[in-house]
Amino acid sequence: MLSIIKLGDPTLRKHSVVVPDINGDVRTLISEMFEAMNAGKGVGLAAVQVGELFRVFITRVPGDSPRIFINPDILETSIEEEPFEEGCLSIPGLYTDVVRSSSVRIQAWNAKGRPFSLTADGYLGRVIQHEFDHLNGILFIDRIDPTKKQRLLSGYEAKVEA
Ligand code: ZN
Repeated sequence: MLSIIKLGDPTLRKHSVVVPDINGDVRTLISEMFEAMNAGKGVGLAAVQVGELFRVFITRVPGDSPRIFINPDILETSIEEEPFEEGCLSIPGLYTDVVRSSSVRIQAWNAKGRPFSLTADGYLGRVIQHEFDHLNGILFIDRIDPTKKQRLLSGYEAKVEA
């Protein structure tokens, strides 16, 4: 099974590149990503988290069907924002409230190479924004107050070293 890279791995900070061709290799990567996400009991996973710098992420939010987003673009985000607790399979055990748009409109391609667009709010809208950030090397801890970030990270590192 693909292993999930963790905070400190410089790959997490890199920008992912557009998938040039939605082919069998991409579909294999996606099915392996689902395995890794399910094993980690996650609700979303970006390809960069398994070390593949492609603009691909997947979601499986409770009550929603599994979703695949290839070469996504965020078309619109609501002005209205709300806080919600987030975690990340690449930063295990660290959870904190992050303020994000309440709803988001996204366009992407599915595994069959067909374009689609979707407006999502609630938990799915949240996960989409979190995963989309990964494609640009952004982690959820970058979106909180810097002082709080520093405090959380020093606690996190202490736990990892223990
Ligand atoms: Zn994440």
